[in-house]
Amino acid sequence: MKVNFGGIVPLSTVDWLGRAVMVVFLRGCPLSCPHCHNQNLQTGEHLVSMHTISSRIVSVVKGLPVASLARSGLEPSLQIDLEDASERASSKPFVDALVLSGGEPLLQVEACRRLFRLARSLKLATAIETSGCFPNGLQWLLEKGLVDKVFLDIKSALMEPDYEKATGRAGMAARVAESLSICFKSKVAFDVRCTIFPGMPTISQLVDIAETVCSLMGQYPDNRLDYVLLQQGTPREGESRFEPVAEQALHEMARACEAGCGRKLRISVRSIPKMSWKN
Ligand code: SF4
Repeated sequence: MKVNFGGIVPLSTVDWLGRAVMVVFLRGCPLSCPHCHNQNLQTGEHLVSMHTISSRIVSVVKGLPVASLARSGLEPSLQIDLEDASERASSKPFVDALVLSGGEPLLQVEACRRLFRLARSLKLATAIETSGCFPNGLQWLLEKGLVDKVFLDIKSALMEPDYEKATGRAGMAARVAESLSICFKSKVAFDVRCTIFPGMPTISQLVDIAETVCSLMGQYPDNRLDYVLLQQGTPREGESRFEPVAEQALHEMARACEAGCGRKLRISVRSIPKMSWKN
């Protein structure tokens, strides 16, 4: 099987707070968010075999550089069977979780399934970072019991034309709302993430998001929503500079969201550290 592959960050401590994770990026996304943080992964094709990606994952989990795998006889293809992967990972894992990100990972839902199966065999926890525009794919993975945590990005109030403005694509608000409901119903652990750029989303759009979340909390009291995270959006490489929304303003937005919710809504605020790439 070929995967439209974006890259691997072998170790990240910011994608899943409290865990040391490996992030695998899958290329391609149907949205065109104006401040896309991974614009180089929105489009294009870089097809890599699932076996090659699996080998790289195993090498990271074992703390082995790819070169040493090559020396150990896995070259020229660096390929191993998925079923063999767990046998190779006999040493203590270097990371404790696999996060799939993008692009939009659910665009390649079968690749997600296989990578999460590999993660399970390596005794890694699993998480997916998604824009929520493929609710059926999300539901399918959750029903297979392959996902421990969902990070659901919500870009604006869940209505049109707000969502189209935030994502460059019409018709997504209903799909993202469905993904949010799926997270509440399925009892998977999840965070709602809102990335805040100057004027996008506005405070009133954020309060709308918070009200939707609060209403679902009431409908599904045994849900496993951990946090609503307001994270500071920063200019991406090559984008015209702008001053990110100050952390203090983010805290004020968080208070406005909490005030509109009669329930205990855990809102966390953070600014984004830079990440380095390894292709
Ligand atoms: S959903 Fe994510 S990857 Fe897709 S365009 Fe928006 S920010 Fe970029």
